[in-house]
Amino acid sequence: MPTCLPLVRRRCHSCASELFRPSGKFRVNANHKLIDAWLLVLCTGCGVTAKLTLLERVTVRSIRPELLDLLHHNDPGLTAALLQDPVVQRRNRIALDWDDAWRLDTDGSEHLDRETIDVAVRFAARIPVRPVRLIADGLGLSRAEVDRLITEGKIVSAVRLSGKLSGDFTFTLKR
Ligand SMILES: [Zn+2]
Repeated sequence: MPTCLPLVRRRCHSCASELFRPSGKFRVNANHKLIDAWLLVLCTGCGVTAKLTLLERVTVRSIRPELLDLLHHNDPGLTAALLQDPVVQRRNRIALDWDDAWRLDTDGSEHLDRETIDVAVRFAARIPVRPVRLIADGLGLSRAEVDRLITEGKIVSAVRLSGKLSGDFTFTLKR
């Protein structure tokens, strides 16, 4: 689950940095009946502000009043949701950097000594993580041990456990 907002990967035009921090602020411009809205992000290198486009010349009537309200009040939940919105990411050509912005919660180590355990992993946000890392952390094993258990067929899953995942999965551990 997320512990804070992720950073935004985007090249800064003023310095060499490629990471921006969400400012928590929106800017809304109303021109006659058309509205533009941006999410403001700050360069982690030089502090310059960049604008991520959310709405571009959209008619007031087509926007849900609740959304306008959240934009005007710089709602933190809205920042989190919009940063993860694939449409916003594509439009602004950004990706998210989740390093140090999430944590793994487990039910504890009570059942880990059983011969066979089935484990369900749920993502509270679409955070790309290596399953091997999650399994190692959750089971208190090294990543090398988890790799070995996968190779030996003692950890099995319907999904590929190599590479990264950002959605729910289950696996079975057989001792
Ligand atoms: Zn910069």
